[in-house]
Amino acid sequence: MKIINYIQRPYKSWLPKNLKKKVTQIDSIEIDLVSHCNLNCKGCTHFSPIAEKWFIDVEDFRRDVRRTSALLPDDCVKRFYILGGEPLLHANINEMLVIARQAYKKLPIYIITNGFLLDKMDQEFWDICYRYNIVIEITKYPVKFDYEKIKKLMKVHKGKVKIIYKGRTKFLKKKQYKLPLDETGSQDEIYGFTHCHMAGHCINLARGHLYTCSYAACMDRFNNYFNKNIPVTEKDGIDIYQNYSTEEVIRKLTQPIPLCKYCAVKRRTYGNEWGNSKRDIKEWT
Ligand code: SF4
Ligand code: SF4
Repeated sequence: MKIINYIQRPYKSWLPKNLKKKVTQIDSIEIDLVSHCNLNCKGCTHFSPIAEKWFIDVEDFRRDVRRTSALLPDDCVKRFYILGGEPLLHANINEMLVIARQAYKKLPIYIITNGFLLDKMDQEFWDICYRYNIVIEITKYPVKFDYEKIKKLMKVHKGKVKIIYKGRTKFLKKKQYKLPLDETGSQDEIYGFTHCHMAGHCINLARGHLYTCSYAACMDRFNNYFNKNIPVTEKDGIDIYQNYSTEEVIRKLTQPIPLCKYCAVKRRTYGNEWGNSKRDIKEWT
């Protein structure tokens, strides 16, 4: 029972149960450096297995992160995540780590990675992580990979760069959840939002917009691959170049969005066995 509670804890504790409660701090902002990945997880919530290869432009990154830090300064956010896809696939990651730190001077900044490329990173990468206090958070997957390499890196950089495993993946076999979409858009958006662990928790910065979840930020990948048209409109995100106050931004990011009608939250399942994607629409529907 203890283990079951542990597994379920994050899901339940992240739910935005009360929409009227004033929120003053966002849990995390995340930004994809690339859309694709060197792993192929079934039901990936960033749709990486079906995404076309894409690398963020460094200048777009600079502009959007700077602007976001003006709208949501350090004391309004708890963490800043750099991810993907697999973020270590981006050749200019070093430059973007510096930009992120210049924009968010006090925030904990994390690179979320599967770690497969970590031993290929250059010395500059390690120097930047050390100098700018950037944490490397590795999700451990049940795949053929020599995790001894990570152990060695942890030893080499001990006391300098913080390398950690994501939550329970260090000890327990990585599980998966399935977050199915309802293409008909007939779900109750308030129920969906208030029972969604991503809602208001995984704020995604993409294409000059902030979104309350990765589904809103990345739905174009699903639509393009499966030739679907699940709509993501201006009402589903915030144009960061509009004139909003910090309070308005936080309020908008913590309220249901039209896209919630397309999430079959009642059909979600957790603790599923991890598996490779077959790029089958059923993984997301
Ligand atoms: S490692 Fe992460 S980004 Fe890559 S396919 Fe798996 S869940 Fe998606
Ligand atoms: S659209 Fe709504 S229910 Fe679906 S993942 Fe985003 S916040 Fe959650």
